[in-house]
Amino acid sequence: MNEVSPRPIAEIASYHAHIYYAGPTERQHAEWLRLRIGERFRVRLGNWRDEPVGPHQQAMYQVSFANEIFASLVPWLMLNHGGLSILIHPNTTNPKRDHLIDPIWIGRPLGVSGEILGEDDEAEEALEVNTEPTLGA
Ligand code: ZN
Repeated sequence: MNEVSPRPIAEIASYHAHIYYAGPTERQHAEWLRLRIGERFRVRLGNWRDEPVGPHQQAMYQVSFANEIFASLVPWLMLNHGGLSILIHPNTTNPKRDHLIDPIWIGRPLGVSGEILGEDDEAEEALEVNTEPTLGA
């Protein structure tokens, strides 16, 4: 393995957090989280997806964020996920690997149908911010 060069973090164009919920109680906490994320972090809050979509097997919404947000948002989610499962994955040119091999989970890991994803796409930059945070983390 010594001859293999490590992958540089410059491969990561942005990140997604996918916040999953099942049933009304979990959706309520997902709403609570969404509001508080918006008050604290410069991110793109995606639409509510009450049905499975793409590789995601459960209802969720997506949070798109720039690399420099990771160090505050991810620890904050560790403390505040309230039992919800959250998938954090990098966005590189290999979405399949991003979702199946390289992500981190907060809470209980869920199934991801990553086999439908590409392995040589354009890496997604952070989407346009739609929050106006006024509070600290
Ligand atoms: Zn994603």
